[in-house]
Amino acid sequence: MTVLQRQQSLQSGSSESLDPQNWDEVRALGHRMLDDMLDYAANIRERPVWSPIPDDVRARFRAALPGAPTALDEVYREFADFILPYATGNVHPGFMGWVHGGGTAVGMLAEMLAAGLNANLGGRDHMPIEVERQIVEWMRSMFGFPAGASGIFVTGTSMANLMAVLVARTAALGSSARQCGIGHQGTLLTAYTSKAAHGCITKAMDIAGCGSNALRNIAVDRDHRIDVAALRVQIVRDREAGLAPFLVVGSAGTVDIGAIDDLAALGELCREQNVWFHVDGAYGALGILAPALAPRLAGIENADSIALDFHKWGQVPYDAGFLLVRDGHRHRDAFAAPAAYLRRETRGLAAGSSWPCDIGPDLSRCFRALKTWFTLKTYGTEKLGAVIARTCALAGYLEARILAEPRLELMAPVQLNIVCFRYRATEPCKINRDIVADIHESGIAAPSTTVLDGRLAIRAAIVNHRTDVCDIDALIAAVLEFGDRRAGSSGDVLDIRESPPLAM
Ligand SMILES: *Cc1c(COP(=O)(O)O)cnc(C)c1O
Repeated sequence: MTVLQRQQSLQSGSSESLDPQNWDEVRALGHRMLDDMLDYAANIRERPVWSPIPDDVRARFRAALPGAPTALDEVYREFADFILPYATGNVHPGFMGWVHGGGTAVGMLAEMLAAGLNANLGGRDHMPIEVERQIVEWMRSMFGFPAGASGIFVTGTSMANLMAVLVARTAALGSSARQCGIGHQGTLLTAYTSKAAHGCITKAMDIAGCGSNALRNIAVDRDHRIDVAALRVQIVRDREAGLAPFLVVGSAGTVDIGAIDDLAALGELCREQNVWFHVDGAYGALGILAPALAPRLAGIENADSIALDFHKWGQVPYDAGFLLVRDGHRHRDAFAAPAAYLRRETRGLAAGSSWPCDIGPDLSRCFRALKTWFTLKTYGTEKLGAVIARTCALAGYLEARILAEPRLELMAPVQLNIVCFRYRATEPCKINRDIVADIHESGIAAPSTTVLDGRLAIRAAIVNHRTDVCDIDALIAAVLEFGDRRAGSSGDVLDIRESPPLAM
């Protein structure tokens, strides 16, 4: 083919771009989508919290890989009919399951803007990277970390905790371990966290090649905080046995009951024992924004690293996890790798080193920083702190309602925004599991369950900024209603002496 022939053949195919033939049509439809999603959030109370997916919907939704195009409005209709009504439900104020944030209209709009820019935040010199750096700087000052600290957005705290294990591992073994593997020195690295810590820490030890058995789950006190004396004994014993203690993970807000470890004591112990001090602050670390909660996080400023999620208490739409590392050099030591195609320059788009790809496993990365920046700017930290404090006040109200109701039993002290309780019955585990499923299917609320000392509890984690007193009342009413029904139908007898309240 001649140059001219090639040119002509390409020009005849210029409609192969994915841009719309008619921008006005897409604009009109786009505006409708935007209106619909704003209405969705504004009128969320009119919907059930969660709806089971009907079999026919699930079946109709499954389709072959589309070879041919479908009109955008038809694809959107399918979204509106089959996807939107059967979402998780965490936008709804009645959602209290697990620890999910509610999202905001501001975050949604920012996410749209980020998608429009389609920036890749692996590196290079562009303003989206500066937005991420701004958040790193804000987090550094918020947590009292020194200059030279580094931070990075990741999917969530599971990833941030894993990365912290990797940073601590490289800090302990030296960066040669990245070439030689972690076994070459013949020492077994051991890490420590509490029995109440999140399961992703065990998984992180596994993925990092340390092995989940090398994670010691230390006992907790009656408030579910790590027993620091027992931790010290274990570290000393392990070291005497020839093992190499390298990491302690403290919890700032456990998922089961919201306990915050004594971070100041942990920090001191880690300094004394020369081990890395990481804080899993997935949801609790942002409590630092609420003046009443901040003192409970005292000591977090001495951590070597902190993992947190903006998508929980921070109300930023999913996902927006974050890792902050006190010593940026150590952070880079764990991840930086040279590559010719990632060559750094001092001018042009390839400038602006160091890049986020030097401090994490990802190369291509989305612009999570923008929705977080919009959220922090639009609301300000005082308002976000007030929202966080209010979820704790609502938890206090739920606790008071439980204590005032003989049919209900409080299962754990309420420390933050998580309330664990159950309906009293002769077969409490079975009946409370059923009550939770009944409530989910009713669409009234969405609590989850947890197991505390072998006993199943209904767990209400109040994270959503939309949750109000009426939602707490609706949850209580639903638990009593379904509990009475199940107790009545199964011939269960109510025995309120079965166990004392607060027994751990
Ligand atoms: C949510 C949570 C995690 C996991 O975070 P993801 O963002 O879901 O990956 C870890 N630890 C605690 C304490 C959590 O609350």
